[in-house]
Amino acid sequence: MIIVCPSCSAKNRVAEEKLNADPKCGQCHAALIQLAPIELNEQNFSHYVSNSDLPILIDLWADWCGPCKMMAPHFAQVAANNPNVIFAKIDTEASPRLSQAFHVRSIPTLVLMNKTNEIGRISGALRSSELQQWLDQQLQAQARS
Ligand SMILES: [Zn+2]
Repeated sequence: MIIVCPSCSAKNRVAEEKLNADPKCGQCHAALIQLAPIELNEQNFSHYVSNSDLPILIDLWADWCGPCKMMAPHFAQVAANNPNVIFAKIDTEASPRLSQAFHVRSIPTLVLMNKTNEIGRISGALRSSELQQWLDQQLQAQARS
């Protein structure tokens, strides 16, 4: 499968069984599977989403949003426990066109993408246990379809 390097944006081909063996980028040697959320913006968004073969869970947030800040450590914790999903954050203030493209009405909003398809969405702050449960449900539903 193709994994886009979170450091240099190079596309890397990685065998699925090697995903858990800490694969490194062929170009910059950074770890391809980051256990911390990456930052997406209007410049790098479509490159990541259209090229990555892993599902991407996006947290649409803003600096002024209290519930967003409350959820951030929970989001990071779930990211660390789910190496087969890319966790990404989009600052809706810095990327208003992305926020508009997602028709974001309230934040935080979480959007789960598989390539360019939105496969799940939930709004409001979640604790890590709630977030993990929701994510598992979305991925199971996707696997069945
Ligand atoms: Zn790289």
